Amino acid sequence: MIYINDNYLKLPGSYLFSEIAKRVRIYKERHPGSKVISLGIGDVTQPLPPAVIAALHEATDEMSHVETMRGYAPEQGYEFLRNAIAENDFRAKGLDIHPTEIFVSDGAKSDTGNIGDILSINNKIAVTDPVYPVYVDTNAMAGRLGSLVGNVWNNLEYLPCTSENNFIPELPSKPVNVVYLCYPNNPTGTTLTKVQLKIWVDYALKNNVLLMFDAAYEAFITEKDVPHSIYEIEGAKQVAIEFRSFSKTAGFTGLRCAYTVVPKDLTAQSQSGEQASLNALWMRRQTTKFNGTAYIVQRAAEATYSPEGKKQVRELINYYLNNAKVIKEGVESLGLSAYGGVNSPYVWVRTPKNMSSWDFFDYLLNNMQIITTPGAGFGVSGEGYVRFSALGNKDATKEAVERIMNYKL
Ligand code: PLP
Repeated sequence: MIYINDNYLKLPGSYLFSEIAKRVRIYKERHPGSKVISLGIGDVTQPLPPAVIAALHEATDEMSHVETMRGYAPEQGYEFLRNAIAENDFRAKGLDIHPTEIFVSDGAKSDTGNIGDILSINNKIAVTDPVYPVYVDTNAMAGRLGSLVGNVWNNLEYLPCTSENNFIPELPSKPVNVVYLCYPNNPTGTTLTKVQLKIWVDYALKNNVLLMFDAAYEAFITEKDVPHSIYEIEGAKQVAIEFRSFSKTAGFTGLRCAYTVVPKDLTAQSQSGEQASLNALWMRRQTTKFNGTAYIVQRAAEATYSPEGKKQVRELINYYLNNAKVIKEGVESLGLSAYGGVNSPYVWVRTPKNMSSWDFFDYLLNNMQIITTPGAGFGVSGEGYVRFSALGNKDATKEAVERIMNYKL
C-alpha cells in the first residue's frame, strides 16, 4: 500500500487564475479580434536591466572555459552575492545583517513555502486576510490548518484587512505562534508605517511569536515612514525572518533569484524545551533539500547592486510606479475608492455599487475588455475588491485606464 499526504486532498482547487483564464477564453471566443488588456496577474513585462544582461553574458562566457566554469553553487549562495546583499540592502542602511544570515534561493515563493519545514506542525498560524495564497496553502499541506469549512480553515487565525480598518491588521485575539506579514502587501498594495510595524515586533517579543515578514515588494516603497526591512524595528532580529526577491525589483520572475534573512539571534523551542537556532536549522534544510541558485543568475543578481544596475533598477521600478499612478488616478477620478499603488505595483479597488469581486471582474472584461484579479480570490476579506496590477506595459495600461474613464462605469 502507498499512502499519500492526505492534507493535499483538503486543499481547494487553484481556482482563481484558472477561473480567470476560463472567463477570458470564453469572452475571446465570443468576441474574436477584440483587444483584451491584462492588468491581472502580477508578473513583470519589461526587459531585464542592461547591467543584468551584461552580467549574464559574462558569467555564461565563464561557464564555457575550463578554468572558470562552475559546478554546484554553495546551497546558501555565493559569498559575492551574500556580501553584496548584506552591504547594499542592510549595512548601507544602518542595519546589522551579516552575510551568514542571508540565504540565497530561487524564489521567495519557495522560501515562504519551505520555511515551515523547520517548524513544528503544532504551531498555530495567523495570516492577514486577503493574503498571498502560498502562506496558507503550504501550511495546509503540512497539516497545520485543520479542515476547510466553506472558504475558511478552522485552525487558522485570519486577521481581516479592509478599508474599515485602513488595511491595518489587529493583533490576534487568540494565542498564535507564527504570523505572516507581507508589506508592501500583495494583494492590497498597502503598507505599515514604522510605528505600526513596531506594534507587531513588540507583540512578537512579548508573546514569543515568530514573524514571517515578506518584503518582496520592498523596492516599490516611496514614502519615508514605511520601513523597507523589518530589521529597522528594534528587537526584530529576535523575532523575524525576512523574505526578499529580485523578481519584482529587477524583473527576475523568469530568471529566479531571491533571498531569506534568518538572523542568528532567532531561536525557537524543541519538544524537550531547549532553544535551537533557526539559522542553523534553515542551513541544514537548505543544504539537504536545495542545491543552490545558478551561478549566472547570482552574478545577474549581483549586477543589480552596481552603480549602473541600481540606476536601471530604479528606472524599472519608476516605470511600474507610474503605471500604478495612472491606474489609481484614473479609477479615483470616477469616484471609486482605490488603495495601494504608492509603495506597490498593485492598486486595490473597491467595487462600485456593492458589486461582488467576480461581478466587477466580469463587468470590466465584458464592457471594457480589461482583465483584473477578483479580490475574493485572495480570501474572504478580499470580497468587494479587485486588484489592478501595474506591472504591465505603459501604453496598454494607459489605454485600459482610458477605456474605463470613457465608459464611465
Ligand atoms: N511573495 C509575494 C508577496 C508575492 O506576491 C510573490 C509573487 O508574486 C512572491 C513572494 C514570489 O516571489 P518569487 O518570484 O521570488 O518566487
